[in-house]
Amino acid sequence: MQLRKLTDKVYYLPTVPGRDWPVLAYVRGERFALAVDAGYSKQQVDSFYSELDAAGLKRPDFTALTHWHYDHCFGLHAIDGLAIACEDTNAILRALSLKSGTQELLDEMLALDPGIANEYPDAPSLTVVPAGLELRGELRIDLGGVTAQLFETESPHTKDTMCVYIPEERVLVLGDATGGDYFNNGYMDKAKLLSLTETIESLDCAVCVLGHEEPMERDALLSALRDMLKA
Ligand SMILES: [Zn+2]
Repeated sequence: MQLRKLTDKVYYLPTVPGRDWPVLAYVRGERFALAVDAGYSKQQVDSFYSELDAAGLKRPDFTALTHWHYDHCFGLHAIDGLAIACEDTNAILRALSLKSGTQELLDEMLALDPGIANEYPDAPSLTVVPAGLELRGELRIDLGGVTAQLFETESPHTKDTMCVYIPEERVLVLGDATGGDYFNNGYMDKAKLLSLTETIESLDCAVCVLGHEEPMERDALLSALRDMLKA
């Protein structure tokens, strides 16, 4: 898929039909570039970076992870630069990394989601590493002319959720935060969804980048979330 330009300084790599690759976001600063989410595998990282190269954009200095899910993190070993995760995400990645490349890990992951076999046909290809930088709470990065605000937030999708707000571009990258709990039959915790909805309302953003669909106008997303809260 081709890299798409969302605003002056924000780009994203859309999902690819037939694959579980998540949307990858990219912020172009004058000094540093930030990617949001590493992707499912080295193959996705390579696809993303070849798009950046073709567009004349530098490869990321930083890659922020929205949550631990394999499709967002297992490409981490193949990235350039430094990865940033919240402590809860990194604790999970660190535990998985102890079994990196083993059949035991592949079997565990296949028990969670058989679809992983499509991306990882054999154990040696499954390399898991933790992020080099950890945060708790919030971290602001001056990328040069544009700021990235990384912050932990409550979400119905996972306990470890980090979003990235780019105030100058009025963009909020949410990853899968608005989704239900995949490992609990998609259970939607409405208290957590309300908390996340209020967080989105509190930010001056125009567009929200989501994990597995096209970016949405903030108002359209908020009205969809309000409908879910009422249902
Ligand atoms: Zn997820």
